[in-house]
Amino acid sequence: MARYVFITGGVVSSLGKGLASAALGALLQARGFSVRLRKLDPYLNVDPGTMSPFEHGEVFVTDDGAETDLDLGHYERFTGVAARNTDSVSSGRIYSTVLEKERRGDYLGKTIQVIPHVTNEIKDFLSVGADEVDFMLCEIGGTVGDIEGLPFFEAIRQFGQDRPRGETIYMHLTLLPWLTASGELKTKPTQHSVKELRSIGIAPDILVCRSEKMIPQKEREKLALFCNVRPDSVIAAYDLKSIYEAPLAYHREGLDQAVLDAFQISPAPRPVLTRWEDVSDRIFNYEGEVKIAIVGKYTQLEDAYKSIAEALTHGGMANRVKVRIEWVDAELFEHQDPAPFLEGYHAILVPGGFGERGTEGKIRAAEYARTRKIPYLGICLGMQMAVIEAARNLAGLETAGSEEFDHEAGAKRFEPVVYHLKEWVQGNHTIARRVDDDKGGTMRLGAYTATLAEGSKVAEIYGTTTIEERHRHRYEVDIKYREALESKGVIFSGMSPDGRLPEIIEIKDHPWFIGVQFHPELKSKPFEPAPLFRDFVRAAKDVSRLV
Ligand code: GLN
Repeated sequence: MARYVFITGGVVSSLGKGLASAALGALLQARGFSVRLRKLDPYLNVDPGTMSPFEHGEVFVTDDGAETDLDLGHYERFTGVAARNTDSVSSGRIYSTVLEKERRGDYLGKTIQVIPHVTNEIKDFLSVGADEVDFMLCEIGGTVGDIEGLPFFEAIRQFGQDRPRGETIYMHLTLLPWLTASGELKTKPTQHSVKELRSIGIAPDILVCRSEKMIPQKEREKLALFCNVRPDSVIAAYDLKSIYEAPLAYHREGLDQAVLDAFQISPAPRPVLTRWEDVSDRIFNYEGEVKIAIVGKYTQLEDAYKSIAEALTHGGMANRVKVRIEWVDAELFEHQDPAPFLEGYHAILVPGGFGERGTEGKIRAAEYARTRKIPYLGICLGMQMAVIEAARNLAGLETAGSEEFDHEAGAKRFEPVVYHLKEWVQGNHTIARRVDDDKGGTMRLGAYTATLAEGSKVAEIYGTTTIEERHRHRYEVDIKYREALESKGVIFSGMSPDGRLPEIIEIKDHPWFIGVQFHPELKSKPFEPAPLFRDFVRAAKDVSRLV
């Protein structure tokens, strides 16, 4: 049975709980243990699939097709362990399961209450797969004291009591604000936050303290005394230049040792940190810089394209270059030449997206990259835009567009080169959807196989002709335009195994122009960059050397 570490946060949000959890996972792996990370989110959406990326950041998709919180992306990037459907849950999902059971009559005769029905449901979620790993790290979203989070805190308190002594610990992240006027770090907010936690029955074993300044020994001792933790379990978390320094930084501060001590694991296995030393070396020692434009809609919030930004960074590490990402709003050049906005970039990436807004700008960006022979990576919507551009400007289909944009009933402004996919094959069964189906969880989601054409650029990049990548889309390039497009130099170099769904397109006689219907960024790791990102950054590096 796994040992459990529960990670909670206090004082303010955005302290980097997800990163601390992911780094701890990486450190436990470095000590030879197997880990799995899990996220519990207090919001009432059943999953983040229907939330705006403006508000909540990107939706991270797992192999088994769950739409989850972007923290699961951090977990995967740091541990390499593929997240599953059962690694992410929200209050919304918990309540919806409880209410379904109630309607079915599973609790017949009972009054349904938060304790025990909701808390039992949470504990069941926590227990899934507990016998598969040495450590299960479970992060609770939000901060202690939030009304919505209470059932989760109660459930993790009970969970610790249900399990044998010494098999569950609690780690609490807080902030030590620096007061310039008095020139000191303040511990009071942390004391209050721990008090709040203890009032609901949870005594933290480890305190992780975010701080801009060095934490003096005296303050550590004070925190230990007032918060009832051991002095060596007060761990400092200073600001870092790169998130990929986190495992080494937390190791230096003694986090993994404190966790093993709290579980009384002795002697502690020695850590092997070569993977993270190499990652740090690559992050900080580079030989040049490339500038890449991401032409999108959600450019105000970087978290909306979190995995793409990280995958580009990984691609840079592989090529020993620093990748400077600039966010370009596609709406700026919907009706004009994009050149003034796109000149000077060594490569252009058009990411995924939904809805019509900004798409004419993305189509122009694809045209600019194609005609100027600038490396182009189109992801999901970015591939669809590249195909529409080629259909309009190479194959002469002037009104080519996507059914996604003809959203008003009866509107038929576009020839649907990209159409609403209503039936597809997964493994050995067929999945069908209707146009008016629910919006939540009804896309083509998760890992699907693609077959790559022998001798194509993508087959060379991947080094194989069978790949598995994650999908999240409703629309699809219509195979019936294949001949018209191929005769004009658009190569369909990746297809679904049944040959019906285009998965990858390339432009012939172009140094690097690839569109993919899937999201290669979701599987990229600093120590194992996604092949497409590795090679895309290499192509950008080549361009940077020419100018
Ligand atoms: N909106 C497009 C579709 O549903 C693209 C989705 C995406 O980019 N993830 O097919």
